[in-house]
Amino acid sequence: MLMRKDIAWLWAECRQNVEGLPDCPLHLSEPAYADLVFNKRCHGCSKAGVAKVIWEASARYCDECVRVQMVGVRHFFKDPANSVYSRFKKLVLTVTVDSRLSFHKPDLLRLYSIWVGMEEHGSWQDFVMEQNGRLEVLRAHVEACQEWKRSIDVVRTEELQSIRDQRVSFIKARLLELGYPEATVEAAEAKLQTSKQVRVSKPLDDKGWSRICAQLVSFMDDFEQSQVCEDRIQKFADILDEVRKDNLHDPDIRWWPGTADLLLMQGTSYRARLTSGPLPVNVSDYLELKAQIRRDIGQWLENKREELEETVRDMKEDFFPIGIRAIDLVVCVFYCDSCHQRIRFPEILVHRCLRGLMYNRYRVLEQEIQQREDLFEKAVLETCGYCPWSLTCYVRYLKQKRHPQQTILVSLVSDIDHGLINTIIMCGKDPFYTKWDEMDKRNPVFSLRNTNITAKVMGWRCAVSALRSVPVFTKYDRRVRRHSLMRCPFKHGKLTTLHSVRRPWT
Ligand SMILES: [Zn+2]
Ligand SMILES: [Zn+2]
Repeated sequence: MLMRKDIAWLWAECRQNVEGLPDCPLHLSEPAYADLVFNKRCHGCSKAGVAKVIWEASARYCDECVRVQMVGVRHFFKDPANSVYSRFKKLVLTVTVDSRLSFHKPDLLRLYSIWVGMEEHGSWQDFVMEQNGRLEVLRAHVEACQEWKRSIDVVRTEELQSIRDQRVSFIKARLLELGYPEATVEAAEAKLQTSKQVRVSKPLDDKGWSRICAQLVSFMDDFEQSQVCEDRIQKFADILDEVRKDNLHDPDIRWWPGTADLLLMQGTSYRARLTSGPLPVNVSDYLELKAQIRRDIGQWLENKREELEETVRDMKEDFFPIGIRAIDLVVCVFYCDSCHQRIRFPEILVHRCLRGLMYNRYRVLEQEIQQREDLFEKAVLETCGYCPWSLTCYVRYLKQKRHPQQTILVSLVSDIDHGLINTIIMCGKDPFYTKWDEMDKRNPVFSLRNTNITAKVMGWRCAVSALRSVPVFTKYDRRVRRHSLMRCPFKHGKLTTLHSVRRPWT
């Protein structure tokens, strides 16, 4: 009944009550306009809860329908099958959807049928003029609607924030009444802000409090315990720093584990020590702890070497020769699924992604903390801000949908990459027995001709690592090398990035 046209005045009156909402556009009826603005249903399939309005299309679409109704401009008009529509290209509104310039297909079809209907007694020029006038009005309306939406979004965010503030101060007051020290309650505030008891869009009252009271008490108890833990973890990190300073001469120091790696390492006593009491203060105990940390660092490195060697040999059975450590070989290059970089041992021990430090590091860390039950482990991750080194963990949650089977973050690139193997052979080396450090010492430079007058010059690491498509290298060219050595920004005689240079003999 409410969609009937004769009661449009009712809708118009209702609309007056919505502050700042632009007037009903000419191409929509009052009820249709009200439906567009207030009814959060998909206009394609009636699915509920579609928040976003595409004003250019005067429609709301769910993720599935948007793909059908909003069509990419370039893709559509490039298709010869759509050539009948090409003259209407400039007569539809465009909008960027999923970073693609798109238009509303039903609008184009409507326009086409209007033109077909009037073709016998209308001129194209008049039609275009009329449509352009219509587009201009429409554009202005779209802009006004977007402006209106932005303003109500701001208001809504402010409202939500004030509700949250009310909830936090209500909870804090109650916790103080329960006897928690003021300092602890203050310290817990930041964490409270993100807790699900606070993130509710309803002010809190006594009735609501009685429902969440028990959850918050256990939240506070955990918080107090983890705070004590955090202080101790911080102290442990300081001691580890001192051990580092004492061992600056250690050739492996660049690959040393971090605080989180050591504390969560299997078979160490740190968990028992840090959860039972404060760290030692007398000198002999303190020195004993430092010696223990030094031993555990060595053990950690040894464990990781073994783990990697085992993983590599499992990944490619019978690929590497026996009696030599595969991870040292030049053909053993890892490929990181997360950042798409190529890495080798031992750099893989400090690769960021393997500690969850990816582009979405906060989400990864948060998920990792949620997954762990143990309070000590949670406190370690929270204090350190990264996860312990692991080949398997941190894409698991993110990629679950796409690759349910895939849990190892790195894969080997060597056997499929002819570029890598050719590069080593070109240097007169056997790729299956040559180690990375030998190549580093030789540091050969390669040239790759891309046109008649230019060539790319690169260090050997770049040649085997950075180029993903399999390039066929031209012969090792002394002239290019000499030239590039003079002009490229080398660091300590090593070329580590890719440079384009003009060949000097042209
Ligand atoms: Zn839909
Ligand atoms: Zn990575």
